[in-house]
Amino acid sequence: MPLLRFGKTGVVPPQHVIGSERETLWSEDGARRVCGNSECAGGWTAPWRSRRRPIFEGQWGCCGRCVLAMVRAAVQRESVDGTADDVPHRHRVPLGLVMLAQGWITQSQLRTALDAQRAHGTGRIGDWLVAECGVGAERVTRGLSVQWNCPVLTTEGFSPEAMALVMPRIFVEEFGLLPLRVAGSRILYLGFQDRRDSSVALALEQMTELRVESGLLGETQFASVREKLLGCEGVPVKSGNVEDLDSLSARITAALEQKQPVASRLLRVRGYFWLRMWLEASALGRSGNLPASGEDLMDYVFSIGARA
Ligand SMILES: [Zn+2]
Repeated sequence: MPLLRFGKTGVVPPQHVIGSERETLWSEDGARRVCGNSECAGGWTAPWRSRRRPIFEGQWGCCGRCVLAMVRAAVQRESVDGTADDVPHRHRVPLGLVMLAQGWITQSQLRTALDAQRAHGTGRIGDWLVAECGVGAERVTRGLSVQWNCPVLTTEGFSPEAMALVMPRIFVEEFGLLPLRVAGSRILYLGFQDRRDSSVALALEQMTELRVESGLLGETQFASVREKLLGCEGVPVKSGNVEDLDSLSARITAALEQKQPVASRLLRVRGYFWLRMWLEASALGRSGNLPASGEDLMDYVFSIGARA
């Protein structure tokens, strides 16, 4: 697959469309350059205009004001509250009952674990089953995979250097999930510690334009992969805290105007707004929108309001 096409108007990256209705990150027609702001007063379609960047979500903005309008619309879109998975335990059968139903633990083991959890007022039921009842940790992981209806993944093919570029390390540090590998240049495997989070998986699908398959990792594997991942250099990231959505839009617009990316994308991931910018077309790797290296790539991660 050709990664880039060079036309007389400059670099026109290809469309990385994997779904039929998927919007693409890259400008569809670099030659036409119609301003992406629907309210644009300038009516700039002029190909002779020297300003070619920044490109935000596949659209070109003719001036700073128009980029701000495009960013505002994207911020608005991302602010709308997401999926039901934001409510973590809704409709989930408790892990103990799942394992009991599978015949992997006995009533008395479950009672012992629940008593221990109650007595200590802390800890996950799975940990108590392991600690107090001699249940194998891999059995608890299997129980979680039934509870969350997703497979148990292996760490086979894990490349820490490549996976460290998938998302900002703060997500790895805070979210209990790890990018594991890309299969066939199309599927990104995401390993979770103890529960699947479809909203994060969806955000990563949109950012990478790869299909994301979620699964659980055993505790030991998770810890070891996490350590290796955090030991690698990721994409350079700037983080900031802003007061409200207006200042967020202003900060993002300023970043776009300053860095002049050839492609960029804004997504909300849990409490964060994540802006990824491809500063040169060569930043694009072989799989979806994943970078080949941290070079010519930049992440901004913003949180809003006082952090708890
Ligand atoms: Zn405009």
